[in-house]
Amino acid sequence: MKFFYKLWIQWRFTLPVLLILLGIMLNGYAVMQFVMRSLTHSLPTPSPSISQPLKIIPSASVANTNIQVASLQKQERVTAYPPKFGHFPYSEGDTEKMIIIGSYAQHEYQRFEQLAPEAALALMKLIYAARDEGVWIIPVSGFRSIATQDKLFQSQIQRRGSPEAAAKLSAPPGYSEHHTGYALDLADGHFPKQDVTYNFANTDAFRWLSQHGKEFGFELSFPANNLQGVSYEPWHWRFIGSPNAVRIFARAKQTSSENQTLN
Ligand SMILES: [Zn+2]
Repeated sequence: MKFFYKLWIQWRFTLPVLLILLGIMLNGYAVMQFVMRSLTHSLPTPSPSISQPLKIIPSASVANTNIQVASLQKQERVTAYPPKFGHFPYSEGDTEKMIIIGSYAQHEYQRFEQLAPEAALALMKLIYAARDEGVWIIPVSGFRSIATQDKLFQSQIQRRGSPEAAAKLSAPPGYSEHHTGYALDLADGHFPKQDVTYNFANTDAFRWLSQHGKEFGFELSFPANNLQGVSYEPWHWRFIGSPNAVRIFARAKQTSSENQTLN
């Protein structure tokens, strides 16, 4: 008993101090945990719609894991990823910097399309130059998120029967040029029924774009018989008029120049 009494005398002041210090440490740890948790929560998480349809189509779930990895990588790292059904992987561009290039459709379907600043500015110049010659070019679809592309691709799979068949007409999520903010679908304002159809190739807008698109930094991404094996898309154009855009499409450009040498 005497031993414990001596111990108490020795530690009676030190013990409360130690307990207080321990309390402060534990509180600090709890605060740190809380901060870390709220930081991870604020990171963009893939929408629930991504994982749901994938349970039905197992082959597409492989694509989805690739997307999530791809979306986390910087553009430089992404170039290390292999193409999927002929489509190259692309990261989502910075939407905070993007500029609205116009609205499409009306009422509840109306949506505002946007592009990266250099592409948006070049497009405006292109549209006005065409208009001076009586040609009415309208943007249908610009930047598209990976989540939106996933919805489009899933409905394409339902229509076409398999991811391979769907990929002929639509890029798998994480593999669309639209993610970058440097590619867009264009239409002829005089022929609204030709929007995103092969008949667009017969419009004045397409003829004008084929002739003058390059002058403004735009080129057709998927010409007929392209080496990427993607269906001919006369409506889909990408911007290659800035160093950033050139870097983003370097791999796809390489493929198209190989195509030219083959021809
Ligand atoms: Zn497109």
